[in-house]
Amino acid sequence: MADDARPTLLLSDLHLPPEEPSALRERFRRFLMGPARDAAAVYILGDLFETWIGDDVGLQQYAPEVGALAALTARGVPVYFQHGNRDFMVGRDFFALTGVHALPDPYLVRVQDRPTLLSHGDVWCTDDRAYQRWRRFSRVGLFQRVFLMLSRARRMRIAGGLRSGSDVAKRNKPENIMDVNPRAVRGAMADAGTLHAIHGHTHRPGDYPVELPLGPATRTVLPDWRDEICDYLRIDSQGVTRCRVD
Ligand code: MN
Repeated sequence: MADDARPTLLLSDLHLPPEEPSALRERFRRFLMGPARDAAAVYILGDLFETWIGDDVGLQQYAPEVGALAALTARGVPVYFQHGNRDFMVGRDFFALTGVHALPDPYLVRVQDRPTLLSHGDVWCTDDRAYQRWRRFSRVGLFQRVFLMLSRARRMRIAGGLRSGSDVAKRNKPENIMDVNPRAVRGAMADAGTLHAIHGHTHRPGDYPVELPLGPATRTVLPDWRDEICDYLRIDSQGVTRCRVD
């Protein structure tokens, strides 16, 4: 029962840059050393890192955050992570070192006793066929093993090319293709038998109604982090609150 009094915290799309100094990275570390310490659980729903080209490089580039996550889980706060489209290469060494648990996507969990479907969200952007093809390909173990065999410099060049390529592609895609497909969301929620889904990725924070055979449901989109807006969701027995790290 003691656990129920503590809030569950959810966040995604921080897009922490590999370079320091970074105001966003400082905010995230403040979050880990502050509000996260009093949480029943912390869920990070993908795109925590703007780039992750393998644990060998990522663990160095993001060493302070890795240390802060390890310190948090050592205190007994469970931390869960779903891969995003930027940090889908986060691997075993990261989870072993930080004590963070990897979650499949989507994943049904009880948040404050309410069954809630968690996802990064990109898997539901089914209107973007080209992206879905790349997503399937990039998640194959063999692709990842071959990529990891390349030199760091080579991987950085490829990742840099993919990043700018995806930015250009995004600019040229109609707005609705970049959002989740309502049918994909309804199907996933109906399969899971839940009335609440939470995801990130689309950078369109808010609560959106979903009509399910089960009844009226809600899809909550997490805010992305930018400049001074470093927000996360806090869910406790009173409901859902949007909080800011300052
Ligand atoms: Mn994303």
